[in-house]
Amino acid sequence: MERAQAIERYLQAVPKAELHVHLEGSILPATLLKLAQHNGISLPVSTVEEARRWFQYRDFAHFIEIYFLISGCLKTEEDYELITYEFGAEMARQNVRYAEVTFSPSTHFFNMGIKHDVYFTGLNKGRERARTEFGVEMRWVFDIVRNASSQQELHRKADYTTSVAIESMQEGVIALGLGGAEVGSPPEQFAPWFEKALAAGLHSTPHAGETVGPESVWGALRTLGAERIGHGVRSIEDPSLVKHLAQEGIPLELCPLSNICLGVYKHIAEHPLPRLYAAGVPLSVNSDDPPLFNVTLNDNVQALYEPFHFDLDTIDEILLNGVRHSFLPQERKAQMEMAFRTEMQKLRQELVGS
Ligand SMILES: [Zn+2]
Repeated sequence: MERAQAIERYLQAVPKAELHVHLEGSILPATLLKLAQHNGISLPVSTVEEARRWFQYRDFAHFIEIYFLISGCLKTEEDYELITYEFGAEMARQNVRYAEVTFSPSTHFFNMGIKHDVYFTGLNKGRERARTEFGVEMRWVFDIVRNASSQQELHRKADYTTSVAIESMQEGVIALGLGGAEVGSPPEQFAPWFEKALAAGLHSTPHAGETVGPESVWGALRTLGAERIGHGVRSIEDPSLVKHLAQEGIPLELCPLSNICLGVYKHIAEHPLPRLYAAGVPLSVNSDDPPLFNVTLNDNVQALYEPFHFDLDTIDEILLNGVRHSFLPQERKAQMEMAFRTEMQKLRQELVGS
């Protein structure tokens, strides 16, 4: 019992990097209520308790619906600055030193009517304050939202997202992502935009293989130049895909507790993380939309120990994957990995005694 508690403390304290987390999905319930009130937006809930109950999803579509309502509570540059700054404070609390944070520009621009200047200035002011006050670093992944009411609208959103991502490369945007509801929206149709983004020097990290099977991951690899896959858990259904991911060293950004909250798997015991690991697929552990699932990155990391039963050396290596598979320049990654290792060693001695 004592050892389990010591390990829990170690996993909370250990330095981490996160590769799959959505800014809009990280707004704290109290902040959401404050912003809604301030901006005159009516939400179906008025207390933090009610918000927590509201964040219980019937299915993926219900989750997306709530996600849109939340995004609609952001109006001013200060709102965007606040949520980014608070995200940075939460990173510091969990000793997350570096995060690649997904944001969906088209939702704010087309659905909410917020100009690029407004949201992006806010995002980067919040990012800078978090860096100077807490010593945490963030980079942005701008993701194309897969869903639209027509092909024309889809193209407009994809065009917008790709061009603002490319324009903002000097100001912290490092990758193009692909999010939203995967069912009925295969990756292949987004090939032209990913081609453009890759040619401009952005990285590619689409969501695939979460609510659709292996064919979605194959599509992302074959047509979007995916360097990492968001989720990709359902790769497990195709042994030849698992082998390919392992051989080519293509990392999956796993968010195990998110998959339980959204019903991809009924129970954590069914989650394929241990099998993917055993097959040699590189993986990192991430939080996705922590307050929306009432979980933290630390909760996801804790799952590696219990119920997944990895030993601490293996958990440390999985945590270091967050650095190694980030899109930072090689030299920065090497420095960060070294710093993490030193700190891990010290904390292991202090907290676990081995
Ligand atoms: Zn996600």
